[in-house]
Amino acid sequence: MKSYPMIIGGKAVETGSTIAVINPALGEPFAQVHAADAALADVAVAAARAAFPAWSATPDAERSRLLHALGSALDSHTPELMELVTCETGKPLRGLNDVGAGMELAGAIAWTHFTADIPLEPELVQDDEQARVEVHRKPLGVVASITPWNWPLMISIWHVIPALRAGNTVVIKPSEYSPVAVSRFVELANAILPPGVLNVVNGAATVGAALTGHPDVNKIVFTGSTRTGKQIMSGASATLKRLTLELGGNDAGIVLPDVDVKAVAPKLFGAGFHNNGQTCACLKRLYVHDSQYEAMCEELARLARNAKVGNGLDAGVDLGPVQNRAQLDIVNALAVDAREAGGHILAGGKPLESKGFFFEPTIVAGLTNGSRLVDEEQFGPILPVVRYSDVDEAIRLANDNPNGLGGSVWSTDSAAALAVARRLECGTVWINEHGAVQPNAPFGGVKQSGIGVEFGKHGLAEFTSIQTVKISKS
Ligand code: NAD
Repeated sequence: MKSYPMIIGGKAVETGSTIAVINPALGEPFAQVHAADAALADVAVAAARAAFPAWSATPDAERSRLLHALGSALDSHTPELMELVTCETGKPLRGLNDVGAGMELAGAIAWTHFTADIPLEPELVQDDEQARVEVHRKPLGVVASITPWNWPLMISIWHVIPALRAGNTVVIKPSEYSPVAVSRFVELANAILPPGVLNVVNGAATVGAALTGHPDVNKIVFTGSTRTGKQIMSGASATLKRLTLELGGNDAGIVLPDVDVKAVAPKLFGAGFHNNGQTCACLKRLYVHDSQYEAMCEELARLARNAKVGNGLDAGVDLGPVQNRAQLDIVNALAVDAREAGGHILAGGKPLESKGFFFEPTIVAGLTNGSRLVDEEQFGPILPVVRYSDVDEAIRLANDNPNGLGGSVWSTDSAAALAVARRLECGTVWINEHGAVQPNAPFGGVKQSGIGVEFGKHGLAEFTSIQTVKISKS
């Protein structure tokens, strides 16, 4: 079994302790990574701190050039990294609508190159006979990045590249469930970046908490569950760290009654089930008008029954396994509860007989807000379809949730859809699609889905502090 070291201060670090990484399609380990403890997290922070003065003083054009080189390194290692992502997450190499490991790599590469070119120029707010006033952006120092298991490489890129672009140094702690592709990426990156600029430590909550509370970490960028986000916010408060928190979602989609059911259903299915529903901004609750409810449920159930579930390394697989046993248990418990709450399981409804963590793609009708499957984030291949009879009611039900990551409205009437969309309480709202993100448009949650945004110039700004410079002329 291949073993991956941590990289600290430019050096490969192996310890006496390792984490076995399970391939969820087989239910058994395929690789291991070396693990840190709190003391080693301190060493990594010290390495990042030592690298900060030179990296932050490196000319912007040079930092940009090095980040483009990271993009090229991802590009030239794409087949290897895709296979690692598939083995550790279960997501297919290609997958439903091509949302698989290939897309994860393509996205990581695209975000790297795009972010490398975002300008960080000072803003001139006044220049007259009294004074010249400029607003400058300065790096924060050491950024700790803590990532989840669902899109391990892409989310790491979303954290690391803007942090480095702005002149910070980074310690990343990937999820203990999927640390392999990130470990390999950091190894590749360290052949390009100066030592200590990008470090990786492995471990679970204790290592994350060590970074969160560390007095020499200036910012935490975290993607993961709302529960952990709250712990991180609390741990970071003693040293008043900057935070970007990208947390859980329970995205609602509202289908207005004018749609063509057969044309829209495959898009809705893709939005709810890509990566097996394990994406923060997957469609997680679907509200469909009375007049189209049965037809839409039937069409979604047909698509669910036809989806090909299997090992993501095999050609033609749409959906892989759930990424870990604990998450499979959550999905199964929600299915059991949905049945007990009077829901009709129109397709799927149970785990597959397998050593892997497979669950049948599941469509549930007949539930509404107040049932667990509608109110909670399922993060798996099970979608509740909720009936509504007037649009105001649908908007109320969509907003009746503590999460506020994404939302969508589906209609042939774009003005009507936009009017509904603007009333949804979420950080991104899509019309006639759901969950698509892009490197130039800010993305982040409202309510308990997070604090701050990622991507584009707004996302980059979160890795800086403002220094206002006033030059008096009087
Ligand atoms: P998680 O919160 O369990 O773990 C995320 C990371 O936090 C892991 O690296 C874990 O080791 C670490 N961690 C756990 N406890 C910690 C602590 N006390 N202090 C510091 N670090 C700690 O999340 P997960 O199960 O890996 O990911 C799934 C969740 O992530 C879902 O809720 C999903 O919606 C969310 N997510 C959100 C976004 C977004 O952009 N908003 C994107 C992807 C995933």
